[in-house]
Amino acid sequence: MFNVTIDGVAGCGKSTIAEYLSKRLNLKKFNTGSLYRAITCEFLHRFGRETKPTKKLMDEFVKDLDVEVEFVGEQQKVYVNHHDYNNVLREEIVSLTTPLVSGYEKLREKVREIQRKFASQNDCIMEGRDIGRVVLPNASCKLFLTASPEVRAERRYEQIKEAGEKTSFDEVLRDIKLRDKEDREREHGAMIPADDAIIVDNSGETLEETLERCERIIKEKQIK
Ligand code: C5P
Repeated sequence: MFNVTIDGVAGCGKSTIAEYLSKRLNLKKFNTGSLYRAITCEFLHRFGRETKPTKKLMDEFVKDLDVEVEFVGEQQKVYVNHHDYNNVLREEIVSLTTPLVSGYEKLREKVREIQRKFASQNDCIMEGRDIGRVVLPNASCKLFLTASPEVRAERRYEQIKEAGEKTSFDEVLRDIKLRDKEDREREHGAMIPADDAIIVDNSGETLEETLERCERIIKEKQIK
């Protein structure tokens, strides 16, 4: 199978880039963040918003966790214990709690199985944090996307303003830095580029330039 991994920091355009490239290169897109987000929704539903995911609680939670991924055309849907959280995956509480819930190795093991099974059956682009380094170490092409926190906060701030929601640039920047820290420093599933990943820093690029650059890199690997 031809598997491309796109890992990288929050808010650097991974999903948009994976979406575009999957269409251009005829690869199935698999978004792994939405699995961890949906699982976190189930955690919040079961234990409430104030509960911290301790190891004891997570051991109990993972034991009977049922995660199903379904594709409706190109659209990926995730169901956890038969619950449908697909419309609330991007809520702020979910974004901030997911790095804590997803740091548990037993949970990552479970999600890893689903990810590996998909990659073994499909030519795909799999997007996440640890895909190239841990989940698919033998992938055909590995990209690691990054951009400075300020550039990412500016992009996100503009999106939020356009959606008519209230926030400040400083608040957005603070949340981005906090998620980076949680994702980088945790023991399991830390966001570290694979040794053989190609680092794509898109701080000074337009989206079109980044898309073109990534497409060129993947096509070179396809030819080889
Ligand atoms: O990519 P997205 O922002 O939707 O990911 C949400 C969170 O899920 C990340 O901040 C990270 O904590 C977790 N995640 C992960 N491993 C992945 C993908 C996402 O731990 N492969």
